[in-house]
Amino acid sequence: MALHIYNTLHHKKELIEPLKEGHFGMYVCGPTVYDRVHIGNARPYVIFDILYRLLKRSCKVLYVRNLTDVDDKINKRAREIGSSIHDLTVQTIGWFHEDMQALGLLEPSHEPRATQHVPEMIAMIQNLIDKGHAYTAEGHVLYSVDSLREYGCLSRHNRDELIAGARVEIAPYKRDPADFVLWKPSDSETPGWKSPWGFGRPGWHIECSAMSCRYLGPTFDLHGGGQDLVFPHHENELAQSTGAHGPHTFARYWMHNGMLTVNGEKMSKSLGNFVTVREALQKFHGETIRYILISSHYRQQLDWTDEGLSQSKSSLDRLYICLRGLVDDGHENAVDPKILEALEDDLNTPLALSRLHEIATSINKAKSSKSRMQLMQILKASGQILGLFGLAAEDWFTWRSAAAADSLNDEDIKSLIAERIQARVNKDFSAADLIRDKLLAQGIHLEDTPNGTLWRR
Ligand SMILES: [Zn+2]
Repeated sequence: MALHIYNTLHHKKELIEPLKEGHFGMYVCGPTVYDRVHIGNARPYVIFDILYRLLKRSCKVLYVRNLTDVDDKINKRAREIGSSIHDLTVQTIGWFHEDMQALGLLEPSHEPRATQHVPEMIAMIQNLIDKGHAYTAEGHVLYSVDSLREYGCLSRHNRDELIAGARVEIAPYKRDPADFVLWKPSDSETPGWKSPWGFGRPGWHIECSAMSCRYLGPTFDLHGGGQDLVFPHHENELAQSTGAHGPHTFARYWMHNGMLTVNGEKMSKSLGNFVTVREALQKFHGETIRYILISSHYRQQLDWTDEGLSQSKSSLDRLYICLRGLVDDGHENAVDPKILEALEDDLNTPLALSRLHEIATSINKAKSSKSRMQLMQILKASGQILGLFGLAAEDWFTWRSAAAADSLNDEDIKSLIAERIQARVNKDFSAADLIRDKLLAQGIHLEDTPNGTLWRR
């Protein structure tokens, strides 16, 4: 495998050479569990799922994606809705898993929860204090950004940007306005743990430094997330980890995906264009959502539109039509080399998708049923590396969204098709056409084939 990925740290595409041949360790920042994930949050999880699938072909991959279950946003939300923090986080983690499953994600190797790794965080903070990278002030422990010459090397921010970007609250106990919190005091209302610095809780950044080290060691292959995490989150993770473990430790490659807009605008609650994965799943199958999320290159901004979703649905329909009649015999190694080539070139998913359509065209033109079947197997295996084709073709076409629950069910459709066949036998073609139109009005397409009438939603 000659995988090249754009490394944010060096601002260029680089050949990925794992630390240990045949092994690969990657860490992706998971959700802060206080609410449903929105489609912008879902994009990195889908992208890194494809990277995971690709790497698994040639390496033993250790994929760690954390859950942040201690955070001020969680405390605030729990107060707002009058729930306990425990109930809120347990429920939100359940929702997250449901959504990720619906989007066809593989489970990571480990999904550590921050609250289960506080001792590791405390040990790391103590290490940073001992090495002169952190100091205590009024029950807080702060990272001294001045103590690390390389601070800012990932985001390439200058000092003023670092201060402005840190969006720091007025905190008189900070030696430098850009210093960030590693530990902060908790009161009896807020979750907290005993520590050498009093009863308190960790800052967000230290969670990922401690958990990545726990599962992947001080140095590992790749760290990923959305571009919005480069600063301050990833810059601070890097400062903590290299502060604790020495220069040139921590992630060797950094991979970040572009942001998502909705109809050309930034998604926000105030603009009313905030779409959760759950809402999108009410209308569209998870694969349709996955398809649109990978239809642009991961480093590009992605625009989420109804039109794009409809196009994704039609594209998948076209591909699934080509998989009708495929006898599944587990040909997972039949992946098209051009698709692998596209993915190995900085995860070029749009190119991989267009190649799937080329294969579909070849299937439609195939002269013999043997070559047709071979191409179908290649199509299926190639789509599966992108996390597509998780359904049998007939299940794809008969799938009905929750939003369409009131529309015709499978039995209604089958009996209308039977009526239409009878009408045609009786040579009552206008009645047959009427049934076809009625079904079409409900979004049901009929296709008359030598083997009978096929239908799809
Ligand atoms: Zn993180």
